[in-house]
Amino acid sequence: MAEDQGRRAFLRLAAAAAGAGLVSACSHGSGSGTAGPAAGPATSSSAATAPAAGRAATPAATRSPSPADWAALGRDLSGPLVRPGDAAYTVSKRLFDPRFDSLRPAGIAYCRNPHDVATCLAFVRKFGVPVAARCGGHSYAGWSSTSGLIIDVTRMSGVNVSGSTATVGAGTRLVDFYNGLAAHGRAVPGGSCPTVGIAGLTLGGGVGVVSRAYGLTSDNVQSLQIVTADGQVRTCSSSQNSDLFWACRGGGGGNFGVVTSFTFRTYPAGEIVLFFLSWPWSQAARVISAWQSWAPHAPDALWSNLHLAAAPGGAVPAIQVGGTFLGSLGAASAQLEKLYAAAGSPPSSPFMETTSWLHAMLVEAGCASLTVDQCHLPTQNPAGQLARASEYAKSDYFTKPLSSHGIGTLLAGVESFQRLAGASGASGGIAFDALGGAVNRVAPGATAFVHRDALFQAQYTTTWPAGSAAAAVTRQHAWQQSFWQSMRPYASGQAYQNYVDPALTNWRQAYYGANYARLSQVKGTYDPDRVFTFPQAV
Ligand SMILES: Cc1cc2nc3c(=O)[nH]c(=O)nc-3n(C[C@H](O)[C@H](O)[C@H](O)COP(=O)(O)OP(=O)(O)OC[C@H]3O[C@@H](n4cnc5c(N)ncnc54)[C@H](O)[C@@H]3O)c2cc1C
Repeated sequence: MAEDQGRRAFLRLAAAAAGAGLVSACSHGSGSGTAGPAAGPATSSSAATAPAAGRAATPAATRSPSPADWAALGRDLSGPLVRPGDAAYTVSKRLFDPRFDSLRPAGIAYCRNPHDVATCLAFVRKFGVPVAARCGGHSYAGWSSTSGLIIDVTRMSGVNVSGSTATVGAGTRLVDFYNGLAAHGRAVPGGSCPTVGIAGLTLGGGVGVVSRAYGLTSDNVQSLQIVTADGQVRTCSSSQNSDLFWACRGGGGGNFGVVTSFTFRTYPAGEIVLFFLSWPWSQAARVISAWQSWAPHAPDALWSNLHLAAAPGGAVPAIQVGGTFLGSLGAASAQLEKLYAAAGSPPSSPFMETTSWLHAMLVEAGCASLTVDQCHLPTQNPAGQLARASEYAKSDYFTKPLSSHGIGTLLAGVESFQRLAGASGASGGIAFDALGGAVNRVAPGATAFVHRDALFQAQYTTTWPAGSAAAAVTRQHAWQQSFWQSMRPYASGQAYQNYVDPALTNWRQAYYGANYARLSQVKGTYDPDRVFTFPQAV
């Protein structure tokens, strides 16, 4: 009974917080489980914020493809090719964020197998057509679209578990990944947002709610299959194409070829403790100070995040600590007591429960009250109840705790969003994910994911509802840039390559640090003509 009340309290908190960007990593993106159907056509704001379209044409083109050439490509593929004018085109060309609805690819190939991918790449090379691989479509910069050919991998999805490993189609979305694994009592660490694709997530790292125990998603790849620019289907592992294998674990999506499947190490998916705690905003400075000394140094079994979120015209911002614990409720409580002691007060709204692994992943996805089928976009599953959403994101890593001055700057940044003339229903804030544990036990050069010394990473986000005025969205974007700027003295200068940020000028260093030189060598070996390119391509 007490647990039921706790759950209801949490669900109320979740519903209230969805608009303010709380609860889960995805709630500031895809919305909570109560979200309505998919968004309609591009809004005034999406037109105002759309990126420069696509990628440059690939080299060595002989001539542009004619309609007959496109038709021939369609006949050569076992999966469908969607072209402008086709009934399916409007939906097929969409990414997750409606900001990118104005992009118009010349074709979207839904590849069913590696051979289809190789056929697409032969076409791309022959005609010099720009190309982009697409999985979940969550690129923050829209770089899984192009003016040329999108190679969509979502028809290559599914989870096959054998013993303690799982082979997963590169087009599998996270909710289906967790569901497929859970059916066999297994788990792999991954991100929160249910519609994020396993390919984009894994290629750039993959930070999630059990990362401190089990590492990044990419740390758990044992092998993968990739079609490189020359059309070759290659298996990569520590013993085969090991340089490409290294690069595909953190080197970022879209750089080295089109991945068609991954084989992961898996873990038992037992019960897991979930917790969500909030304090009055007046306690925020003490809670932040306590959290940053607690979460990155806790036992690996504990993972936690810290969200600060504001809404234009809101009374006060919200502060929430969430997390998971691999162990008993009692042991989790003992850990949380240390946080309360350091913060000087217990949370005003505590929620803690033990639940199944799959349900925990649904809660973290913002799908607490939805079935797996419902936890999709309607275009992905007829029962889907999630909506697409717009968001700007920037990131940081912190290798030192924030000083009291840094905490003051952080609070001032969040509070200033309250006074901004942002869109009605908008949110702005920052989410910190605790690191340490298994993530930091891997050497920075062991895989392409270099960020192995941080206490926590941060994501600065701002969201707005469809149809918001462009001027309000522009002010939100400016707020985010200035908030991020104000934190320069405290952050490490590194940025998360999966939160691609077109405004970063030093992205090579920020995403890849000392690993960039080796990534560049791998690029030269497997894609010397730069068939795969985009503004921040290796
Ligand atoms: C709402 C939201 C929530 C998020 N939550 C998390 C989180 O909890 N943890 C986390 O770590 N990250 C998170 N992310 C970031 C996410 O990991 C990245 O945006 C990731 O790149 C998305 O992958 P995708 O397949 O969905 O996107 P896509 O846009 O399809 O792809 C992203 C990039 O990878 C390339 N790519 C796609 N498929 C392939 C392929 N098969 N082979 C080679 N390249 C490919 C694309 O060309 C593009 O450059 C989140 C993002 C959003 C928008």
